Amino acid sequence: MSSSEKNISPLAASVGSVWGVGEERAKLLARLEIFTVEDLLLHNPRRYEDRRKFLPIRDLKEKEPATVRGTIIAAGIKRFQKGARSLFECVFDDGTARLHCRWWQAQAWMPDWYAVGREFLIYGKLDNEKKPRTFTHPETEYCEPGDDEFIHVNRIVPIHPLTEGLTARVMRSIIWRALEKYENELSVAGCKLRVENSVFATPKELLTFNFQPATLPERAAAVRMIHFPEELTDVEFARQRLALDEFVALQFQIQSRRKKFEAFTKALPCGGDNRLMKPFLSALGFKLTAAQANVLKEIRADMGGAHPMRRLLQGDVGSGKTAVAACSALMAIESGFNVALMAPTEILAEQHFRNFSKWFEPLGIKVEIQTGSRKIVSAPLLKSAVRGKPFTFNLQPSTLFIGTHALFTTGFDLPMLGLVIIDEQHKFGVTQREALVRKGNYPHLLVMTATPIPRTLGLTLYGDLDISVIDELPGGRGAIKTFVRTTEKLPKVFEFIREKIASGRQAYIVYPRVDVADTDKDIKAVTKEFANVQKALTGFKVGLLHGRVKAAEKEAVMAEFRANKIQALVATSLIEVGVDVPNATIMLIENAEHFGLAQLHQLRGRIGRGAHESFCILISDALNEESQARLKILEETNDGFKIAEADLKLRGPGELLGQQQSGAMRLRFGNLAEDLNLIRQARELVRKQI
Ligand code: ADP
Ligand code: MG
Repeated sequence: MSSSEKNISPLAASVGSVWGVGEERAKLLARLEIFTVEDLLLHNPRRYEDRRKFLPIRDLKEKEPATVRGTIIAAGIKRFQKGARSLFECVFDDGTARLHCRWWQAQAWMPDWYAVGREFLIYGKLDNEKKPRTFTHPETEYCEPGDDEFIHVNRIVPIHPLTEGLTARVMRSIIWRALEKYENELSVAGCKLRVENSVFATPKELLTFNFQPATLPERAAAVRMIHFPEELTDVEFARQRLALDEFVALQFQIQSRRKKFEAFTKALPCGGDNRLMKPFLSALGFKLTAAQANVLKEIRADMGGAHPMRRLLQGDVGSGKTAVAACSALMAIESGFNVALMAPTEILAEQHFRNFSKWFEPLGIKVEIQTGSRKIVSAPLLKSAVRGKPFTFNLQPSTLFIGTHALFTTGFDLPMLGLVIIDEQHKFGVTQREALVRKGNYPHLLVMTATPIPRTLGLTLYGDLDISVIDELPGGRGAIKTFVRTTEKLPKVFEFIREKIASGRQAYIVYPRVDVADTDKDIKAVTKEFANVQKALTGFKVGLLHGRVKAAEKEAVMAEFRANKIQALVATSLIEVGVDVPNATIMLIENAEHFGLAQLHQLRGRIGRGAHESFCILISDALNEESQARLKILEETNDGFKIAEADLKLRGPGELLGQQQSGAMRLRFGNLAEDLNLIRQARELVRKQI
């Protein structure tokens, strides 16, 4: 055996090494992403059945799912509608009563499988209280004679996620056997987690790092317990242990990546000397809030420090992140470096361009912009961009370069780049972020997001970044009132909007779609509603904005809206990010149930920016309780942090983060909405180790 082979854990062996897993079953398991023995052992059950005692069929109750055990005494197929529909039915008897089980669309294998005389375990619930007692589409398990009965009954048994061709019983048996054979290996093995490919390789130390928190079972015991618990209460205990292992693996990656980053990189001195900051602040027209000033202190310490800054600035919509970005940019520029600012949309890039030009040009700082549709920057640079080669351009230090994400990924190389600011880009993975920044050779990095990040995510997905929070809104803002209403109330709502517009204010009116889709005619679309809104608001000018409007026109519409030449803007969620028009005080969102909570909060953040009172009206006819509960949260609070935590609990991290990151982190046991304490524990454990 070579030395490298010796280091491979036996748990990394293919599932084929488990007795009972041949080529066919290995293929089926692969469909569940189970390739190794370890994958198999960590296949988390989706539920449990207490089979220590079976309920007599006689005692079954409607609405209460239960497991019974019975023998088939009759079975057959019924056909309806000239054979178009078929029903397979069999009758079980357990000595106390009979139970009819039925499946619509009988399958060819059913008569053989559900043969008279065979014994089954049946899990389901009564269709109703009527006789005969009937289960429709129950889950069943054949009690094969000679099978390892002790694995499957007289205990609490796991029901695992399955795939066609693989029964719960087979899955349970092979996991049982894998446990018997490999349990000892688990006690020394570390934990494995598929985390997105990082800039730096996964640390090898992970394989040998072992730890035992006093309050939780050992890893090997936890794995057994998660499949075959003595009591149902053991399951959560075991889950926590296995979740902790996952979080430890994750922290190991995050912390060692950070450590290596600090070891291999040196910071550019960008602390600044205030010579531009002073005139900037006095011309700004307002005083920074205490929260903004605090964050700037943290940023200055980073930019003047030994390692490149990696900081996430989190501040609710309207908290004034742009001013903080401007001050940070000035620090780098004062120190003789250039700065790049990346915005997620062209509208936002244009808005930043306008603001920053107004602020910076009087100070003698050049501000450049390049977006998909606007190419102001010098011709040679563009030519090389077209040829697909990275381009370098000659600018004197003290330029602020603004662009969209697309521009930055086509490859560019800004000389003397001291600071990269990414605005509103919470949907970026670490790798993407680093790839962007590394083009500029480890400049400082400031990522700004208006989506408040629940602490669990701050410590995991954003664990590479230090986090600053602006937790205070500038004063002098009117309050925002939020109401949830049904479409029935729309005429009244438009009446209200007319009044507000007549008194000089402006409104956003948002729909989920650009066009009406054939499949879902109930979801309103801007292109169709535009005419209706114009009618409802006759006498006022209404603008239209969505993803397919050409960029030049978008900018023209926004300019008119800013100048109050347009009083109402019909738009998709395109206006979600960053747009700042203080005179707009009305936000009407139809089909509100089609937006995520965080997204609705973002949209609402477009109003409440001036001194006037603002109104957010969410229209929804959604009847289901979850939708109602979600919208209610918005009515109750303006606190983005509370909303984000609620959203995370209701919808999971995927919605909050976008595919990029949630896909990168498949936790089998950990729960990013609930496990803050475990995550903290993991972080401390790893801190002590490395
Ligand atoms: P966001 O954090 O959502 O990006 P912005 O930076 O767009 O917020 O700021 C929202 C509005 O508040 C802007 O009009 C900005 O000029 C204003 N603003 C920012 N900081 C202050 C402050 N300290 N006092 C008063 N107004 C401020
Ligand atoms: Mg902003």
